[in-house]
Amino acid sequence: MAVTAQRRLVLLGATGSIGRSTLDIVEQAPDAFAVEAVAGGYDVAALAEVAIRSGARFAAIRDESRYGDLKAALAGSGVEAAAGAKSIVEAALRPADIVVGAISGAAGVEPTYAALAEGRTVALANKECLVCAGAPFMRTVAERNVTLLPLDSEHDALWQALGGADAKTVEKLIITASGGPFRTWTRAQIEAATREQALRHPNWSMGRKITIDSATMMNKGLELIEARHLFGVAPDKLDVLVHPQSIVHGLVAFADGSVTASLYVPDMRVPIAHCLAWPERLQTNARRLDLGEIATLTFERPDLGRFPALGVAMDAMRQGGGMPTVLNAANEIAVEAFLDGRIGFSDIARLVGQACEEALRANDAREPATVEEALAVDHIVRERSRTILASKPLSGMVTVQ
Ligand code: NDP
Ligand code: MG
Repeated sequence: MAVTAQRRLVLLGATGSIGRSTLDIVEQAPDAFAVEAVAGGYDVAALAEVAIRSGARFAAIRDESRYGDLKAALAGSGVEAAAGAKSIVEAALRPADIVVGAISGAAGVEPTYAALAEGRTVALANKECLVCAGAPFMRTVAERNVTLLPLDSEHDALWQALGGADAKTVEKLIITASGGPFRTWTRAQIEAATREQALRHPNWSMGRKITIDSATMMNKGLELIEARHLFGVAPDKLDVLVHPQSIVHGLVAFADGSVTASLYVPDMRVPIAHCLAWPERLQTNARRLDLGEIATLTFERPDLGRFPALGVAMDAMRQGGGMPTVLNAANEIAVEAFLDGRIGFSDIARLVGQACEEALRANDAREPATVEEALAVDHIVRERSRTILASKPLSGMVTVQ
């Protein structure tokens, strides 16, 4: 089965894990999709390869200094080259039926928002957009009546499990977490975890930032905040279950006691295909789910003692306002510092917790009314988090309710 009319796509973050999985779906259904533009960060060779392979008309690289390299790599291909922050926004605004938002981090906020504000349908993987600037994003979605498709697997699963019901009328929306590589580790073992251990995710192959977020379980906190915005529900309607097999991705509990769930093998091509074809369905070659073979699905409650980052994120969600913006910015700095070997694994949650406390004291945690305000808070918090890192050793576990 394919879609009835060909859809033009823009891929923001085309060279990343989600970007490449998206291209794989596109290649499986070449009549269903045409790629208009691709955008990437710094890897010119990868971007040129993806642009040529997908037949894109326009390729944009964030790193302005690489314009000449990109132009040379695309010479004779017919793909137009562009570079710099503005070129990523230009890519986002190319004529398209769906813009796939798959840049990593708050770097995706501006171009993804530009696409939405222009009325484009956006399939959103880049969860940091909603954590950093959820209120302005959702206001624009409502005011412009644009379609925001949840591509993150848990949110795609909730959307499918809702089956058209209004999320505001249900009792609970539950997202699952694999528990990451340290699910069964003790607190002391987690404290001493190395970068290599943290980058070894048991179920999913993803970019480095989200892989570290999965190891700390900050990823699940970011996803709760993402769900809060996407489905317009209060924090007390959202819950997390640890489910190591990553087969059930989201569950919806209704007022009559019924629970629906959405299941698939842990392969992002499944939710990507769902978003790209919606409201139709694509035939894909994704591995089929064989529950008879898997036999056992298990669930447990998250342990906020061993995974304090999840607790810090839940606190930020409950506090609301600009606190998620603060959380996201501090987390990006902390993950970067951990990947650079400058801080230990458990320092990630400590730094983020401290940045949240300092933002409260400095009164930076008001709800941003616009994307510009959100990015201004993001900038302040990044600077402050760098100062915290440079000034003193982080000590003591953060307090978790
Ligand atoms: P990757 O790190 O694999 O890819 C990130 C992409 O963004 C790359 O194409 C990268 O280009 C590009 N990029 C980085 N910085 C910039 C910038 N400043 N401007 C423009 N492009 C930039 O990440 P993932 O694909 O794993 O994740 C992307 C997003 O999707 C994240 O928000 C993540 O949380 C979310 N997500 C990912 C899932 C997964 O399975 N991977 C699942 C669900 C959500 P370059 O390589 O050249 O730097
Ligand atoms: Mg997810």
